[in-house]
Amino acid sequence: MNTSATQKINVQKVESSRIGQVDFDNLTFGSIFSDHMFECDYKDGAWQNPTIKPYGPLTISPAAKVFHYGQAVFEGMKAYKDENGKVWLFRPEQNFLRINKSSVRMAMPEFPRDIFFEALIELVKLDKDWVKPGLGNSLYIRPFVMATQVGVGASPSTEYKFMILLSPAQAYYLGDVKVVIADHYSRSANGGVGAAKAAGNYGAQFFPTNLAREKGFQQVIWTDASKHEYLEEAGTMNVFFRVNDTLLTAPISDRILDGVTRKSVIALAKKDNITVEERPVLVSEIVEAAEKGSLKEIFGAGTAAVISPVSAFSYKEKTFELDKQEDGFASRFKKELLDIQYNRSEDPFGWRYEVK
Ligand SMILES: *Cc1c(COP(=O)(O)O)cnc(C)c1O
Repeated sequence: MNTSATQKINVQKVESSRIGQVDFDNLTFGSIFSDHMFECDYKDGAWQNPTIKPYGPLTISPAAKVFHYGQAVFEGMKAYKDENGKVWLFRPEQNFLRINKSSVRMAMPEFPRDIFFEALIELVKLDKDWVKPGLGNSLYIRPFVMATQVGVGASPSTEYKFMILLSPAQAYYLGDVKVVIADHYSRSANGGVGAAKAAGNYGAQFFPTNLAREKGFQQVIWTDASKHEYLEEAGTMNVFFRVNDTLLTAPISDRILDGVTRKSVIALAKKDNITVEERPVLVSEIVEAAEKGSLKEIFGAGTAAVISPVSAFSYKEKTFELDKQEDGFASRFKKELLDIQYNRSEDPFGWRYEVK
């Protein structure tokens, strides 16, 4: 029996590509999708009918459980094109493992490894013209799973849909990022779903983030839900603090998303002999370091923006500005990561994965 990717996945190609209508120099992140998408349904206890087909709307019952009980998880990864036109993924195994970990937490079935990778590779290959060369350009990849069983009974769905969408992206600059340290609202709690890439984690952050925006801050750094004493993460990015030349970041727990960018920064820092402490970081020690001048940098780490330097933070109505660091840790890790992702440097950790 031939079980090659093309045999297993049913591929329906578009008649004509929409790529000519896309202005690749003026993309709004995550708003335009490539010609094709991947879809696979879970029914009668098995994943069935993996299909690549033209990107387009779905027909779903309004009683599908995802709309009522929020069983939905997702991933975010990117494809990069090097100067020779080769296309690369960055640590895709991590995203595969994580979407299944998220699914388990939401009582959803795990997705098979072979179909995940075959679908990912076939889809990116089919739409590889949508990956534009040039540092910062990429094809954002959005795998996700949702509960599709019809019925508003409050129990886990027996049917699901796994999909992958592709969206062309340009360098994602958040500009000057100012953050508020949370002292009332929480993103996640002990025993909760903070470590899962669950759709609802984002929905829950929008309101408090809007309150921060009204005060001129773009993001919230979440703290532990019980006492708001420890710094955790920014909700779309993990967070690092540089005190003198030591890098601090919260340890992974069931409240924190185990970011691929986070663990890559830690590996790069260790390789460069930078001291990294993965330990609970007190808000008070960061405020004190800011007052003493030993707090050199704060930055976020996540796939979409890679590394985002924070220019100021506010805590209980007091704002602390950070001096701009031209060759600080943030710009150094950003360059090292981009060089690996775009095949511009050695890949000592074996993180690159060629799509061919
Ligand atoms: C996706 C995500 C991150 C960043 O993870 P990466 O794997 O680095 O993209 C950080 N925090 C949360 C809550 C996330 O959902």
